[in-house]
Amino acid sequence: MIARERIHKILEEYEEPKIATICSHSALQIFHGARREGIKTIGISIPRKLEVYRSFRLAKPDELICMKEFSDLPDVVGELVEKNAILIPHGSLIEYVKNLEELEIPIFGNRRVLMWERSREKMFEWMREAKLRVPKIFKPEEIDRPCLVKFGGAKGGKGYIVVSSYEDFLAKTKGKSTEGAMIQEYIVGTRFYPHYFYTPLSKDAYPASKGSIELLSIDRRIETNVEDIHRAMSAGVIVEPSFGVVGNAPVAVRESLLPEMMEMGRRVVEAADRLMGGIPGPFCIEMICDEDFRFYVFEISARIVAGTNLFPDGSPYSVYLFDEPMSTGRRIAREIKNAMEMGKLKEIVY
Ligand code: AMP
Repeated sequence: MIARERIHKILEEYEEPKIATICSHSALQIFHGARREGIKTIGISIPRKLEVYRSFRLAKPDELICMKEFSDLPDVVGELVEKNAILIPHGSLIEYVKNLEELEIPIFGNRRVLMWERSREKMFEWMREAKLRVPKIFKPEEIDRPCLVKFGGAKGGKGYIVVSSYEDFLAKTKGKSTEGAMIQEYIVGTRFYPHYFYTPLSKDAYPASKGSIELLSIDRRIETNVEDIHRAMSAGVIVEPSFGVVGNAPVAVRESLLPEMMEMGRRVVEAADRLMGGIPGPFCIEMICDEDFRFYVFEISARIVAGTNLFPDGSPYSVYLFDEPMSTGRRIAREIKNAMEMGKLKEIVY
């Protein structure tokens, strides 16, 4: 991984930092938020997306750089640094750009965290360090209850299968590669995806580590076909559930569950301090609440998640923190501005 000092050297030479990201995932929200904070933006696009990113007047980037494929990003890093760009990581950036850790450009947040997000095993280590309740993990021969098989490299829930015994596992995975697959206990309950923002620069929200956590919004993913499966079932159609993410819906959680949700956020931040040197910026803890109101966590996303796209003007939670429309994208830009004013950019960029 490229040394922190190398990146901070680049940062020292920046006169007027700009916000850059690839045109996908939550880029419109990020550009829109930066515009509201008065920070210039650079969109990194591929040809077939250019028109879309030019067509939203208030969310189009100030500049567009076009590449053949998103995976060509390393080719334009020099140009981006010349333009004083800070790269904002999101789901597509992580998916398309393979060795992000080595890129010689300042990245918002802590790039070490992105490596932990990429490996399911490391993620579980982090979740356990944070003392979160996690689903039980099984070896195929041990399966003794309904489990979800998450295949290696599977993204956004696509291709997951449900199995309930070793024989069932063998039958349903016949002809498929199970290398790198993780078999998790299937947790029955209600899913929540709270969007946290950890700032080491201010103690003005929920106390965590040396700063505080802001709960900016909460969503729930809409997944095919599990979401509407009851319709088919009630019509007598037997369906194998699938979990591919196709959308998001806003959620307000029962208020008495908030203390537990905030504590989980705090523990994730403090575990990140110990394991990887901190997690400044946005993150999401993906959780399921069972019938005894116990939360099980199956994943952490250590950057802005697409569910925040529901809230470009803020949410039922951000209004209690900001007297102005505050999206996660805007909050990122605000943090960069605050850090520049305080001379602390190095604390939130690596
Ligand atoms: P993931 O790829 O881990 O984000 O999972 C995709 C979707 O599968 C989630 O959004 C949940 O709806 C579902 N899911 C993941 N893990 C579990 C689990 N252990 N039990 C029940 N459902 C799960």
